[in-house]
Amino acid sequence: MNHKENGCGFGASQAGDIVNIEEPPSCSARRTRTRILNWSVAAESEWKRLLRESLTGAESIAARFGLDPALIKAVIRQYPARVNPYYLSLIREKNDPIYRQCIPDPAELDDAGGTADPLCEEPENQARPGVPSLLTHRYPDRLLFRISNQCAMYCRFCTRKRKVGDPGKQPTRDAIEEAFRYIENTPAIRDVVLSGGDSLLLDDAPLERIIRRLWNILSSRPAGIIRLGSRLPVVLPQRVTPELCAMLKRYHPVYLNTHFNHPAELTAESRRACTLLADAGIPLGNQSVLLKGVNDDPAVMKELVQGLLSMRVRPYYLYQADPVKGTSHFRTSVDRGLEIYRALRGHTSGLAVPTYVIDAPGGGGKIPLLPDYIKAKYPGRVILRNYEDKEFVYPDTADYK
Ligand SMILES: *Cc1c(COP(=O)(O)O)cnc(C)c1O
Ligand code: SF4
Repeated sequence: MNHKENGCGFGASQAGDIVNIEEPPSCSARRTRTRILNWSVAAESEWKRLLRESLTGAESIAARFGLDPALIKAVIRQYPARVNPYYLSLIREKNDPIYRQCIPDPAELDDAGGTADPLCEEPENQARPGVPSLLTHRYPDRLLFRISNQCAMYCRFCTRKRKVGDPGKQPTRDAIEEAFRYIENTPAIRDVVLSGGDSLLLDDAPLERIIRRLWNILSSRPAGIIRLGSRLPVVLPQRVTPELCAMLKRYHPVYLNTHFNHPAELTAESRRACTLLADAGIPLGNQSVLLKGVNDDPAVMKELVQGLLSMRVRPYYLYQADPVKGTSHFRTSVDRGLEIYRALRGHTSGLAVPTYVIDAPGGGGKIPLLPDYIKAKYPGRVILRNYEDKEFVYPDTADYK
């Protein structure tokens, strides 16, 4: 999951575009459906109302927190903002971990370090030729399919800051069709990760059309699975409705990875969302990003991962922050990440411990990092360090040649 200014039109007048996309041509009629939601209808769902009531403009954000509107305007001209009333309600004070994740910061513009696309996700940066623009195909058997570039909130630290929220970069019907054809014609693909932006910002019907078509492709492949990447259980848990879960459930095996970064995001609402998803048989994982001033603290991370398990969400990855332009003020050292990992492994349920990874700049994929649990290695002997830093000797065996 991962991201421009008011000129991009996050105002209510355009909010309807966000949750609808055109119908893929394979599904029923050739007719193009460009149905725009009518916000004035009485039956507007809660999540759409919250999305519509989001703060997106410099004036409203600056007024709320006593900031300089000109400075905020300069930031969101470059990188859009959207903060819905639910997530806003979690802010306790200026610069707290919730605030830092969602409120535009002039530091985003002063950033001399980092690049716009460090993971080389854009087609022109990808090593594999001929991959459609909505796909990132880095691994042999799985790929990322970015079905939306919209998010319920524009996280200030986002890796896809270069593009999310830009209406000029929303997936078109043709681009989606091209992506499907690639998946259909690449039999090695058995695992498709629907990502974004945020995959769950699509309304149920267009989302179901995409999932159904994917299911039709993947269910006949050995060990086919569908994965969703979404921050909505965290930033807009009201999106998770019984209707959504009933739909997803028809296309198992469906997995969902969400993105909690701080214990203050573990609320009654997010718990309700995770419960509905888990009860629909969807295994839930969590991908956190290490962020300075948000969660770069062993005690905070421990509270987060334990809280997640209690919500039936399995911590999956802990990402070292990517060197993305506009986010340097969030970056922490690798040593800090290793220290946090050490504070978890052995000290709490193994189930709560995520794999600490760096997504290699240049597009090398995720590389796991571990503290040095092996102190020394000799023929027939490995000296190990346990979680309490005590040493143990393991009698090693030579491999049969
Ligand atoms: C993270 C990622 C995946 C999924 O990786 P897993 O380790 O299987 O979760 C697939 N494709 C790309 C490009 C990714 O960045
Ligand atoms: S939810 Fe946040 S981190 Fe994820 S893609 Fe959107 S802006 Fe980026």
